[in-house]
Amino acid sequence: ETLNRILDIKGTIRVFCRVRPFLWTNKRRIQEPVSSGLDRIVVRSSGCKKEFGFDKVFHEAANQEDVFVEVEPILRSALDGHNVCIFAYGQTGTGKTFTMDGTAVQPGIVPRALEELFQQVSLDNSSSFTLSMSMLEVYMGNLRDLLASKPALRGNENIARCNLNIQTDPKGAVEVEGLTEVEIPDFAKAKWWYMKGRRVRSTAWTNVNEASSRSHCLTRIIISRRGDTPEARPKVSKLWMVDLGGSERLLKTGATGQTLDEGRAINLSLSALGDVIAALRRKRGHVPYRNSKLTQILKDSLGVGSKVLMLVHISQSQEDVGETICSLTFAKRAR
Ligand code: ADP
Ligand code: MG
Repeated sequence: ETLNRILDIKGTIRVFCRVRPFLWTNKRRIQEPVSSGLDRIVVRSSGCKKEFGFDKVFHEAANQEDVFVEVEPILRSALDGHNVCIFAYGQTGTGKTFTMDGTAVQPGIVPRALEELFQQVSLDNSSSFTLSMSMLEVYMGNLRDLLASKPALRGNENIARCNLNIQTDPKGAVEVEGLTEVEIPDFAKAKWWYMKGRRVRSTAWTNVNEASSRSHCLTRIIISRRGDTPEARPKVSKLWMVDLGGSERLLKTGATGQTLDEGRAINLSLSALGDVIAALRRKRGHVPYRNSKLTQILKDSLGVGSKVLMLVHISQSQEDVGETICSLTFAKRAR
């Protein structure tokens, strides 16, 4: 019974760690590099050695393909009818967006997943699939539709005006009221919409790196699968790919005003997410979904029968060691 439970949990929540390559822009490399095991990270801070276990560790030499190979099985779960959430967690600058979006020459998880989904769908002769896509941003508790046909608005005040409501139907399915959902018939069209969403996200901010690091970006694919009996109801599942806001503790970096408020909002929603995942891992008791917009939106995709993949990103610079330990501690709680 215990073994079954462990296997079940292992299959439900997975936590990976990705170590960002050390770039010349970093001031000082961590004195003792993070250890090179395949499933653990060892960090030394103020004379103390701390060890953290993971389902998988990607060291700096790992490329986008290496990461995607390990993500692929969870995509199959999504096609099989499970709700799936893939998160990129970590301090700003550790490579969350690189992992999720990547670049034109080194595409990340989202474009690769889209391509893979259409590949899998085309190979399945026993079912017919319909895929649709939505993209939204969560900023200080407000939701912004990234695929809306209205031209993108600029500035923070406008984001509040783009507020959308979250509804839960009697069966427990979550719906973001008024969120644009586009049908994606093939990879080319899916990529087109995805690029559009990314563009909208970046043009709304005057300083992309500054503000986008304090918002969450969510891409949702709804997969509807119909078997060979046409009268049967389609099986519907959701795949969420989430580039989370930076996990750094802004309170400690002397941030003030707007920046401080944004930092607080991100920290609150990240800890709400951590609380939900920790409660799911315990498999009993109350799961505190209501504490943030992020966990409310993901409620029906973060429960029984759904799969979670958390990719925790860390830096190798000495200046960041405190944040690195915080991120690793967050991961430990999820696992
Ligand atoms: P975040 O989204 O966590 O703030 P980014 O993804 O923007 O971080 O990464 C910061 C910088 O580091 C970017 O210039 C990015 O291209 C680069 N980078 C991050 N991870 C890698 C990696 N694994 N290999 C090469 N460059 C990376
Ligand atoms: Mg980013």
